[in-house]
Amino acid sequence: MDKQQIENIRKDFPILEEKIYNKDLIYFDNGATTQKPRCVVEKIEQAYYHLNANIHRGVHFLSQKATEAHEDARTTVAEFLHAAKREEIIFTRGTTEAINLVAYSFGEAFCKAGDEIIVSVLEHHSNIVPWQMLCERKGMKLQVIPMNESGELNVEAYKALINEHTKLVSVAHVSNVLGTVNPVAEIIKIAHQSNVLVLIDGAQAVPHIPVNVVELDADFYVFSAHKIYGPTGIGVLYGKETWLNQMPPYQGGGEMIATVSFEKTTYNELPFKFEAGTPDYVGSTALAEALRYVQNIGIENIAAYEHELTTYATQRLLEIEGMRIIGTAKEKSAVISFLVGNIHPYDIGMLLDKLGIAVRTGHHCAQPLIDSLGILGTVRASFAFYNTKEEIDIFITALKKVVQMLE
Ligand code: PMP
Repeated sequence: MDKQQIENIRKDFPILEEKIYNKDLIYFDNGATTQKPRCVVEKIEQAYYHLNANIHRGVHFLSQKATEAHEDARTTVAEFLHAAKREEIIFTRGTTEAINLVAYSFGEAFCKAGDEIIVSVLEHHSNIVPWQMLCERKGMKLQVIPMNESGELNVEAYKALINEHTKLVSVAHVSNVLGTVNPVAEIIKIAHQSNVLVLIDGAQAVPHIPVNVVELDADFYVFSAHKIYGPTGIGVLYGKETWLNQMPPYQGGGEMIATVSFEKTTYNELPFKFEAGTPDYVGSTALAEALRYVQNIGIENIAAYEHELTTYATQRLLEIEGMRIIGTAKEKSAVISFLVGNIHPYDIGMLLDKLGIAVRTGHHCAQPLIDSLGILGTVRASFAFYNTKEEIDIFITALKKVVQMLE
């Protein structure tokens, strides 16, 4: 993507014009959440002003229009992930709820005492705790794939963890701390050789790299709308129909039922079985708009441009004495974690903020990973396609100043 294209794209994101302490905002916290293009915000406004009515089963015009928009959004998501069927797309509150849904429902359907779940050392808490809760509930064991010094998962150690008790493997597609792009296709293939299912946490992948759930052969794939330029409060669970059909509902209520009596309730078919209560039909419509926006730019173009940005930022960061990049995997996405000398990451983040630069500091909801590295946390800069090399230059100059002050 050329300079002019990025300039045009930046105009779609009004927040990028904001001044922070009288400085131009430089937003490098895209791993936590991305900013929203005007079309997504307008879609929300339009839905509330012109399309608002509770969906499904309504006979009136607005309800039918809103239902259509919600179900069209499901089709857009299915196409975005290249799912075989739109019924395999379940709307959730986000990645976290999607993983909890699978941990609960898959656990109920398929797991018993003595079974094992495999996660990796670099997971976000939301891909650890739901499995720990399942293990506690059922008397199961959690196994952990280790990584090497660069932050790449040890595939041989992973193979050795799989045994006749293993029921499911749940790993991130991209690490939110290290930026490592995990070899998920290989991980899935290995699991399937032992009839073990795989969930991929795609929260940090879908905004940056093309994802095809059928090619990957993922059993479950999850992501959050807010990390891919969509609204907060909605996300996606993709699941193979065959598994979703065998899993019990996660929550009970309206929408998810076929018939209800005090003696017996029967459940609705997919995808509604897993969508109890009034769904976020405005959120789904806005998510679909965000996905169209991304598709218009082209996810391959985004991946190439962000790779350029990340490579440039890494090179420039290494100019700074005492710089330690945390996570140096061969395959990396648009995330750079770092530490400088003995300076506390929080101090760097706080001073950068005063210069208008938003980065994240701390354990990034991946405490076991941070502990395994023997550090307190990191400073994390994470990029989006609206970021520029000029912003990186300003960031480096600011960081040099900050480091000088703190040393
Ligand atoms: N997994 C990963 C890899 C993440 O980066 C995040 C968000 N930081 C989550 C899961 C949780 O996403 P959410 O809070 O949107 O549910």
